[in-house]
Amino acid sequence: MNAFDEVNLSFDRAADRLDLDDGTRDLLKKPWRELTVSVPVRMDDGSIKVFNGYRIQHNAARGPYKGGTRYHPRADVDEVRALASLMTWKAAVANIPFGGGKGGIQCDPTTMSEPELNRMTRRYTVNIHHLLGVNRDIPAPDMGTNSQTMAWMMDAYGSIEGYTPGIVTGKPIELGGSVGRDSAPGQGVVYVMDEAAGDLGLTVSGARVAVQGFGQVGSWVARAAHTRGCKVIAVSDVEGGIYNPAGLDVPRVAERYRQCSRLAGFPDAETLTNAELLELDCDVLVPAAIEGAIHKDNADRVKAAVVVEAANHPVTPEGDSVLNDRGVQVMPDILVNAGGVVGSYFEWTQNLYQRRWDEREVNAELRKIMAGAYRAVREVVRREQVTFREAAFLLGVGRVHRAAKLRGFV
Ligand code: NAD
Repeated sequence: MNAFDEVNLSFDRAADRLDLDDGTRDLLKKPWRELTVSVPVRMDDGSIKVFNGYRIQHNAARGPYKGGTRYHPRADVDEVRALASLMTWKAAVANIPFGGGKGGIQCDPTTMSEPELNRMTRRYTVNIHHLLGVNRDIPAPDMGTNSQTMAWMMDAYGSIEGYTPGIVTGKPIELGGSVGRDSAPGQGVVYVMDEAAGDLGLTVSGARVAVQGFGQVGSWVARAAHTRGCKVIAVSDVEGGIYNPAGLDVPRVAERYRQCSRLAGFPDAETLTNAELLELDCDVLVPAAIEGAIHKDNADRVKAAVVVEAANHPVTPEGDSVLNDRGVQVMPDILVNAGGVVGSYFEWTQNLYQRRWDEREVNAELRKIMAGAYRAVREVVRREQVTFREAAFLLGVGRVHRAAKLRGFV
């Protein structure tokens, strides 16, 4: 089963409860448009390499397609499709006016120079630009891309269509980016934890938290959790992690990581592997890196009481049922990590209005939307007696279905 099939298991379960007919399921499940492009790049050694690039527009019933751009060796069409569909359901759960899309290039950005990444991003943007538009499809960063990538995309798009800052989100502040966009996915995770704590029997202040992944999402989850008073006992990146049962000094870890891009060697901490981190004795486990980190072979060794899916699709369906059977609460990606797309919504809105919000305004609005999304999902959990994942899909699929119906598609 590929990642798209796995996401669709949750979709089908929601569609069954909503009693959707086969045609409606097809309309909501299948991407509305898919583009595959070849991306030729002149490498620094003079050779030409051709990468596969994708932009998948899953569903725009509720608004323009919205979703990140992933640079990763495993970013094939199935993975990008899965991520695009998750964006549709996520934007609907957060109740913001976007559909779902995603893009990607199958490449290993860690082995490429900045000029190579710049040339690849520009060529990719030129090749997909006819699908994009501020009211049509708005890319953002994802794994392997960042605000610099968005600056190159905005510039390449602008060289064809004219200056259009709202064409991408996650831009540098100097180019029309929003304050608080970088921290929004991590901050959003902690707002949901705050809101859910009472229901989950969790005391956020002092809770022992382990975070897998120290990138755009994981590093900000760790920082926001630390600021909120959690004890962040472990963090990791692709090379492995560091652990201190008394709690890491997260701002110092982040500052050192910024300087040397390494976690190992941090004073006052032991090293550990990613496999060991997932099995640590802790209250909250936050997978914030890759898909499928928790699966049927390790789910029975997860000791956390709550798993918070900051990454997209970090728990396989088999892993999910093992966790459910063991009574581990899983807070699903389409609810928990929506802070990223909500932050993007704020940036897009500011670009359209040509106004700037301050950080206080951004965080207050983010908290309001994340808390509202959590309460809406909890209401479905209680009413339908289902898991948080099932409830989030029921809510998201139901909202997209209603929009499709109002537009006259079904
Ligand atoms: P990133 O590239 O900034 O960081 C990824 C992190 O994961 C890095 O620390 C990397 O070293 C680590 N990593 C990579 N491979 C790993 C492996 N095999 N084992 C352990 N760690 C590994 O990416 P990101 O933007 O933080 O995205 C992480 C996840 O969050 C993805 O699933 C992404 O789709 C999702 N997400 C991102 C955003 C966003 O705005 N960037 C928003 C919502 C969800």
